Amino acid sequence: MRAMPNLAETSLESFGVNAIENFTWKQLLDLDSCTMCGRCTSVCPAHATGKPLDPREIVLKSGEVMAATAAHAPGGRVSPPLGVDAEITVNANSVFERITAEEIWSCTSCKACDEICPVNIEILDKILDMRRYLSLMESNFPAELGNAYRAMENQGNPWGMNQGDRAAWAKDLDVTVLDPGTPLTHEYLYWVGCAGSFDDKNKKVTQAMAKLLKRAGIDVAILGPSEMCTGDSARRSGNEYLFQMLATPNVEMLNGMGVRKIITQCPHCFNTLKNEYPQLGGNYEVVHHSQLLEDLITSGRLDMSNASLDDRITYHDSCYLGRHNDVYLAPRKVVGSIKGIQVVEMPRNGTQGMCCGAGGARMWMEENVGTKVNDERAREAIATGATRVATACPFCYIMMDDGVKGAGKDDTQVKVGDIALHVLDAIENGERALSELDAPLRQPVAGE
Ligand code: SF4
Ligand code: SF4
Repeated sequence: MRAMPNLAETSLESFGVNAIENFTWKQLLDLDSCTMCGRCTSVCPAHATGKPLDPREIVLKSGEVMAATAAHAPGGRVSPPLGVDAEITVNANSVFERITAEEIWSCTSCKACDEICPVNIEILDKILDMRRYLSLMESNFPAELGNAYRAMENQGNPWGMNQGDRAAWAKDLDVTVLDPGTPLTHEYLYWVGCAGSFDDKNKKVTQAMAKLLKRAGIDVAILGPSEMCTGDSARRSGNEYLFQMLATPNVEMLNGMGVRKIITQCPHCFNTLKNEYPQLGGNYEVVHHSQLLEDLITSGRLDMSNASLDDRITYHDSCYLGRHNDVYLAPRKVVGSIKGIQVVEMPRNGTQGMCCGAGGARMWMEENVGTKVNDERAREAIATGATRVATACPFCYIMMDDGVKGAGKDDTQVKVGDIALHVLDAIENGERALSELDAPLRQPVAGE
C-alpha cells in the first residue's frame, strides 16, 4: 500500500480517498479505461458468495463520480462510462455518493480482480484507499473490527492474548529467546507472528518449524514477548494510525538489534516486513518458510530421504504469498518432495487461486451475508479426493480446517495442515517405519 506521512506529526487533515480527485492520476486513468468485460467480477470471492461487492462496479461507479464532477476541475472534462444510467445523480465529488461502506468492507484484498484485468486496472488499491478514509476520518468500520483494534493497541496482538505468553509454544523446545536491545548474533531472526504464537492450531506449526530448523542446523532466535503484531490487519483495514503505532517500534527494535535476515511462516507478516517496513526505514531480507524449506530440502540440509506419506494432497494458495508476492512453486515443491505422496491441484490454483476469506482483515469481521468463502474453497479441496490439504499461511490453515470440518470431514478423512506439519509428519512417519524394521523379531510365547 502507498506510504503515508507519520500521522503523529503530519499537518494533513484528511486521509485516504473520499473526494474523487484524491486518487492519483493512474487511478483516475483506470476509471476511464474499463472495458466492462466483467472478468474481475467473475473471480471475486466476495461477489461469488453473495456479498454486496462487485469490483467492476467499484471502477464504474467511481468513474461516474469522476465524469459528473470533473467539469469543476481546471480544464476537466471526462465522458461518463458507456451505458451509464441517465437517472443516476451525483451531487458531490465523493466516491461515497455511489459506493457504500458495506461494499468496501466486503473485500478480502485477494487481488484476484487485479490479476485478471486485461487492461491492468488496479481495483484493490482504490478499495484500500477508501478504507483509509472510512477508518481514519469517519471511524466507519464493522464493530467486530473495533475489538481487534483494541486488542492490537492494548495487548500488541489481535488475539488479545497476554504478550508475556508469546514464547509459551517453545517451553519444551531448545529455542533462544532474545532480550530487546541484544544484538542478534544468530543467522536468522524467526518472526513467529501472532497466529503462530497464540492460536492453538498454528502453535503446532511453529513447533514443527522449530523442529525442522533444528534438524537442518539453522541458527535462529526469536523475540518472544518483544515481538508485536506487524500491523498487517490494521493497515489492510485502513487504520494507518494503529499500523504506525505497531510497526514503528518494531522497526526501531529490529534495527537496534542489527537484524538483517528474517524467516516467517505468515504471508501477511512476510508481505508487511518485506514490502512495507522499508517505508518506515526497516530493510530486511525476508524469507517465507516455504522458500527456506524448499532450499533446505533441495540442498539436502533437511534430510528427506526416508520421509514418506501414503496420501493424496492438494495445496491451497495463500493470496499474500501467491498473487501479492509471486511465490507459487516453493510450497508445492516442499510437499512434492515427500515420497509416496500424490499432489493434485484444485481447479482454481496458482494465479487463479481462490481466497480462504480471511485476508484484508476479514479474519476479524463477521461473515453474515451470503455463503462463507472458506466453505466454498473447502468443498473445492474435498472434491479433488485429497486426503490432506496443505496451506502455507496461518489464516488459510484456520479457514480451510474450519471449512473441511464444517463439510463433515474429520482429520482421518481429510487432514488440513501447514506444509511444515505435513513435512514433519512425513519425516517422523519414515523414522517410525525404519525403527519398526530395526526392532528385534518378537519371540513366540510358549503355547502360541
Ligand atoms: S481484491 Fe478480491 S475480494 Fe477484493 S474486490 Fe478484488 S477480487 Fe473481490
Ligand atoms: S476486468 Fe478490468 S476491464 Fe474488465 S470489467 Fe474489470 S476492471 Fe473493467
